[in-house]
Parts: sequence; structure tokens; C-alpha cells
Amino acid sequence: MNLVRVCDDECKGCAICVSVCPKGCLAMSGELNAKGYEYVSFIENSPCTACGLCFLSCPEPSALTVCRIKEES
Ligand code: SF4
Ligand code: SF4
Repeated sequence: MNLVRVCDDECKGCAICVSVCPKGCLAMSGELNAKGYEYVSFIENSPCTACGLCFLSCPEPSALTVCRIKEES
């Protein structure tokens, strides 16, 4: 299961990542960070493919980290 970690205080709340994710894994959190922006959150157990589109489209280089989790064989 892959996932995306969000650094809440780096997010500017532009929602670009939400709109580009083809799997609907990201959503606005409804919470404000220390800078007053509503930050994004990763929806737990959503079907992230670790495609990296969210990271590549985010204007804040430190806001998102895509984690590809290898399945045990
Ligand atoms: S890595 Fe791809 S599938 Fe996963 S949250 Fe980002 S855009 Fe969506
Ligand atoms: S694209 Fe980046 S700055 Fe914009 S909401 Fe997503 S994580 Fe936050």
C-alpha cells in the first residue's frame, strides 16, 4: 500500500494536488496550518499508485513525499 506524507506547515492550500490525483487520494483537511492555510491530507487506505503526479504538480517542494511501499513476497 503506497501513501503520501503531507508536511502540513509547507502546504499553501492551493488544492492542485487534489485535482490532479487520478485516484482521489487527497482532500482538503478542513484544518489550518501555522501559516493560516487549509492544508491537504492523504485519505487513509486510498488506492495510491505512487505515480508522483501530486508531488510533481505541487508548487511547494517540501509539502509532499510519495512513499512507495513494497509488498512482502
Ligand atoms: S502519488 Fe499519484 S495516486 Fe498517489 S496521491 Fe499522488 S497523484 Fe494520487
Ligand atoms: S499542491 Fe502542494 S501546496 Fe497545493 S494543496 Fe497540494 S500539497 Fe498543498
